[in-house]
Amino acid sequence: MAVINILSPHVADMIAAGEVVERPASVIKELVENAFDAGAKNITVEIRDGGATFIRVIDDGCGMAPEDAGIAFLRHATSKLHDERGLEAIKTMGFRGEALAAIAAVSHIELTTRRPEDTEGTYMALTAGEIREMEPVGCPAGTGITVRDLFFNTPARLKFLKSDRSEASACIQAALRCALGRPEVSVRFLRDGKEEFFSPGDGLPESCVYALLGRDLASSLLPCRSEDEGLRLSGFVSSPAAARGNRGAQYFFVNGRFIKSALLQSALEQAYKNTMLTGRFPACVIYLDIQPGAVDVNVHPAKTEVKFSAERQIFNLLYQAVQYTLQGEDRVITSPAAIEPSSVPASPEPAVPKPGFYQTKTAFEFRRESERHASPPSYGHTAAGSVAVNSRDVLYQTGEQLRLELSPAPAEPAVPAEETAVENSVQNVDASSVPDHKILGEAMKTYLLVEVGDQLVLIDKHAAHERMNFDRMKAQPRQITAQELLAPVTLRVSPEDLGLLQARASLLEELGFSVEPFGENAVVVRAVPADMLPSDAAAAVEEICEKLRGGRAPDPQAARDEILHTVACKAAIKAGWDTSPEERERIVREVLSGRVKYCPHGRPVSAVLTRRDLDKMFKRIV
Ligand code: ADP
Ligand code: MG
Repeated sequence: MAVINILSPHVADMIAAGEVVERPASVIKELVENAFDAGAKNITVEIRDGGATFIRVIDDGCGMAPEDAGIAFLRHATSKLHDERGLEAIKTMGFRGEALAAIAAVSHIELTTRRPEDTEGTYMALTAGEIREMEPVGCPAGTGITVRDLFFNTPARLKFLKSDRSEASACIQAALRCALGRPEVSVRFLRDGKEEFFSPGDGLPESCVYALLGRDLASSLLPCRSEDEGLRLSGFVSSPAAARGNRGAQYFFVNGRFIKSALLQSALEQAYKNTMLTGRFPACVIYLDIQPGAVDVNVHPAKTEVKFSAERQIFNLLYQAVQYTLQGEDRVITSPAAIEPSSVPASPEPAVPKPGFYQTKTAFEFRRESERHASPPSYGHTAAGSVAVNSRDVLYQTGEQLRLELSPAPAEPAVPAEETAVENSVQNVDASSVPDHKILGEAMKTYLLVEVGDQLVLIDKHAAHERMNFDRMKAQPRQITAQELLAPVTLRVSPEDLGLLQARASLLEELGFSVEPFGENAVVVRAVPADMLPSDAAAAVEEICEKLRGGRAPDPQAARDEILHTVACKAAIKAGWDTSPEERERIVREVLSGRVKYCPHGRPVSAVLTRRDLDKMFKRIV
């Protein structure tokens, strides 16, 4: 007897439903994408409870003719693809023609639809994919689809649904991702009659981001743009100080489609290297526009993963664009004399001519400014693309400095010529790039107080010095000068740590440490980097063990950076220490030059209080 059956279309649909429709959130994604494809300008998404009992998506798109509505729910029914040649050039969100069939197979559906040019619309009701009713009806132009009792006929799937709360939040997230990808479409989301979000649909990514992600996140975002052959990148990335505990706020869109991509994630995060604590993650909303032929969206049933043909090019584009944005990130401090208000361009042109890169101030930033400033900000040079007008946004840099940093190949610092290079990073600061300033003193032996024009700058001396040390040591390609300890320090370590230290012995030596095994449970530290206090030797080696142990340093470069973090921190002047006037001046100049913005862990090194902030504080102005 034959053992091979051809599955009935109904069973095939139920199986396909398993791939496309995992939970209520997947229904929402598919229906909203259909509405986008239908050219809708306004979409309303409504759920009750967690969405399993009730989902409704209404759009004002092109609608369907009665005969099309009749077949829309059949498997492989699509108006978006005619033959295999079309697949290369696909621009719509859907094209596989299986979403409606898959959803219909496991639910009760009601549809009303009307094309704007028709006088009458169509009403349809389906149960488990079978049409129960179909008749003409009067209805608004566009399409409304109501999905009830999802998985009513597949109890096993129903059982896998989580609580209403978590299904509802997955629904919100799914709709939000769709909405964020299409700033030109207004999306409203209602849960149990209550509005969860509303995007204005004015076509401006900044207002979309603001509406959907909220003020707090939006105000930490910096514009980011770039272009390369066949590629266009735009969007926003968060300032390192606004790092988050997870990757939940990383949104990548390719041709308007939300995607998950290890490639993009890693390009993004590598650009933040050494400005962020391990375990902290940047936020972003990145839009990539790629010629349809250069990206395959058909590698995953829900199309949330894609395959790029030019991975390296895309990686570099994003990596460089983010780095560029972070380098320019700041609020500009200049002495008032240097500012000519008339020189502030009305619509800022790119400040730094660099092929393929441009940054402009967005409406979003204007809004942030206007929230704080009744009149335009008084400092100039804002064209560099970053106007962090918020006393929590704490960086500054002169326009000249930005140019200085970018004109030669950026990224890798120059190789210092000789040992004297130790102090070079300081002396090299172009005097003209440091604004006139007055060091007023130091508060709590921790914060340097500096007056710059009508701004009061507070500098965390330890954080700033730590960053200076780190950059200097990182730029030294060779052996870091070691100091022999007069009294070698013995330290108990676990056999595991001993192994880790031995595995990295040559790296440690290169960085100025001499650490030798001492029996099975101890090491003896004979030398440490010259900048460190001998009394910190044991603590430093313990910290290094911890970092190596945590698997935070998988490759040699990462291990080197992690160890340098420790050394930079240990070699830095500490809060509570007395600091000489020369040292203060050195730190202040570095920070004001814009070179030093974040400590190697991503904490800001400085904060600014403007005269306006102070005047407000003392109610001189309201
Ligand atoms: P796909 O989107 O892959 O084409 P679907 O099963 O999602 O497949 O939809 C089938 C067809 O039904 C679509 O190709 C489209 O012609 C039509 N359709 C679905 N939703 C809408 C809508 N909201 N407005 C107009 N037409 C729609
Ligand atoms: Mg579809």
